[in-house]
Amino acid sequence: MSKTLLLKNAHLIATMDDQQREIAEGSILIRGNRIEAVGPVAQMPDTADQVIDMSGHILLPGLINTHHHMFQSLTRALPAAQDAELFDWLTALFPVWQNITPAMQRAATRTAMAELMLSGCTTAADHAYLYVNGTRLDDSVQAAQEMGMRFHAARGAMSLGQSQGGLPPDALVEQDEQAILREMQRVVEELHDASPDAMIRVALAPCSPFTVTTDLMREAASLARSYGVGLHTHTAENSKDLAFSKERYGMTPTEYTESVGWVGPDVWHAHCVHLDEPGIALFARTGTGVAHCPCSNMRLASGIAPIRKMRDAGVKVGLGVDGSASNDSNHLLDEARLAMLSARVRDQNPGAMTAREALYIATRGGAEVLGRDDVIGRIAPGYCADIIAFRTDDISMAGAQSDPLAALVFCTPPRVAHSFINGRQVIEDGQLLTREVPLIIEEHNRLAMELLQGR
Ligand SMILES: [Zn+2]
Repeated sequence: MSKTLLLKNAHLIATMDDQQREIAEGSILIRGNRIEAVGPVAQMPDTADQVIDMSGHILLPGLINTHHHMFQSLTRALPAAQDAELFDWLTALFPVWQNITPAMQRAATRTAMAELMLSGCTTAADHAYLYVNGTRLDDSVQAAQEMGMRFHAARGAMSLGQSQGGLPPDALVEQDEQAILREMQRVVEELHDASPDAMIRVALAPCSPFTVTTDLMREAASLARSYGVGLHTHTAENSKDLAFSKERYGMTPTEYTESVGWVGPDVWHAHCVHLDEPGIALFARTGTGVAHCPCSNMRLASGIAPIRKMRDAGVKVGLGVDGSASNDSNHLLDEARLAMLSARVRDQNPGAMTAREALYIATRGGAEVLGRDDVIGRIAPGYCADIIAFRTDDISMAGAQSDPLAALVFCTPPRVAHSFINGRQVIEDGQLLTREVPLIIEEHNRLAMELLQGR
């Protein structure tokens, strides 16, 4: 019989369950990696193999990040890319990324994950699309296992170099698309875990319409479907992206997406800033998900995605911090705040998104987008024990005790107090337990400097 863990006397538990229950003075009983029971203290057991007193804490499901490029943590706030839109930003960064090594990929992934975990994230999807100098998806998966994070590793690819009309330099792309597909098949067979409470899942993720061919989009989709794994890419990010689609394919991004079979409950698209009305209807009808990245969309001046319209139409929406070179933080709770604020600015309507809706998108919404809403994204019996706890007496929350749950979004405490992933405590009193943060930072800065110096 698995050991039990009781999280006892929480000030508030936001369950995100079907009734959206918020339980004052509650406890959660965990057995092994699953939640066994949740309810008011008086109705819950008093003892367990391990008991942790959660007095003065707000508990909620771990936040879910649906879009990232963790390698970009090596090139945050790079001067040449600070004030550029997407295409110019990429053009400034591509030559630097050309020298990334497997050790750099692993270090950057550990850094991104440490920062994500400290800000409340328990599941992250990483869209890894650069494969230079022997880097493989296995590097990202290894880092996730070291950090103890639930991970969706999206095997990206760029195959359309400048000589073929694409954006990246030829030296940065994998020109042999058959080799890309063979490697995609290998990582699915070797790294993907199809079990319900999997810690590692693999998805296939050609980078974007302007970096891969139509053939690769189609073949990746059929490969993913033959194995039952997810599909992920960038769509309708900015006006140049729209213009490229019109000029090269004679279609809008969503028409193109549909033409290559990239819609359905197994597909999620990042950004979708310029999703038009037919595109929103298409995504809603087909169960296609959207990774909303408000910070990156503002940083690169791409625009503000029509999230209110998408949610009202029934489109599945989750949050993504996007790559660390266009955010440039890995703070998922802050992303929830920006989702709320940007929705209000877009519609000039303070009711366009509430704090609770932002938290829903950050938890259940993300689980729906990743196809995991049967096991993560809520605190309910049978669900995996991915649970985070914030202190109500943090300086950021002072004066916000009238509604501490909404205050998490409005006030944005910088760190969680505790975090549990798959029943295992990974953060205690604000300290990461799985790796030494100072060592992560030291190694990361050393390798980032080597990268910038072109060594
Ligand atoms: Zn992205």
